[in-house]
Amino acid sequence: MTVRVRFAPSPTGELHIGSVRTILYNYLFAKQNGGTLVLRIEDTDQGRFDARSLPSIYEGLHWLGIGWDEGPREGGPYAPYVQSERLATYQDHARQLVEMGAAYFCFCSKARLEQLRATQAARKEITRYDGLCRRIDPKEAADRAQREPDHVVRLKVPDEGTVSVDDLVHGHVEWPLATIEDQVLLKSDGFPTYHLAVVVDDHVMGITHILRGEEWLPSVPKHLLIFRAFGWTAPPMGHVPLVLGQDSKKLSKRHGATRVVEFREQGVLHEALVNYLALVGWAPGTEDEVFSMDDLVARWRIDQVQKAGGKWDYTRL
Ligand code: GLU
Repeated sequence: MTVRVRFAPSPTGELHIGSVRTILYNYLFAKQNGGTLVLRIEDTDQGRFDARSLPSIYEGLHWLGIGWDEGPREGGPYAPYVQSERLATYQDHARQLVEMGAAYFCFCSKARLEQLRATQAARKEITRYDGLCRRIDPKEAADRAQREPDHVVRLKVPDEGTVSVDDLVHGHVEWPLATIEDQVLLKSDGFPTYHLAVVVDDHVMGITHILRGEEWLPSVPKHLLIFRAFGWTAPPMGHVPLVLGQDSKKLSKRHGATRVVEFREQGVLHEALVNYLALVGWAPGTEDEVFSMDDLVARWRIDQVQKAGGKWDYTRL
């Protein structure tokens, strides 16, 4: 098997050091397996789009010496690599699921959904969609979908059972389906949700291993259900620990520099930044702490990545 991994940032601002740590681990994994690294831009949340993102990804990673094989500017066999340019792919896939009976059109208004949530919250129940539109006859639903463009597509999530993953970092994790709602796959504006887009792309782009930040672990049951609905096998995945400040909160501006460009402006050497970044969340099992990129390619191992968040220490850097 040829390893194919991906770095899939959402372009919501300048390149953050936490994102670089995720791409660095993907880069090391690709290098040590003679694999391919893909850069995919996940811009389906258009409200959060920031035009500074893409240039800062290219500049920052170039400075750090982290390269990749396929991407928006490089092209490749699965182009385009920007999700907003791939809408037809997601729409086709959502339609397939409806035709297979694994997903359905939902016509519920915002007002109804808000009311439902308020009622459930007041009863201290889990707030989730109640499946009202699941019960509409599929033929009638298809007709209504023509007439009412304001619909969404939802996944039919079984009411009982569990889904589980053997995460490369966290080990076995299991979720009861009763806590998961019939998630939206396609929004009324024709854009996919993150969950649909990420699963479709990881599958059609032949991604063999998913390595990403731990904040996405709670989304895994939703993704597994989508993989299952298509009849696809989910690739192995590892959720790498968050980069934290000294107060154990996610590293942010309050703690100091977080953007790659800031470290560069402060005169930090790119070799030092890569060396230090690798150690935030990875323990080599020895006292060694000076690693070149080549050393990291030789030494870093996914099974030595730690579960606990890594604290960022400006002094140690
Ligand atoms: N687009 C997500 C982000 O910017 C990454 C999701 C993923 O890697 O699956 O954090």
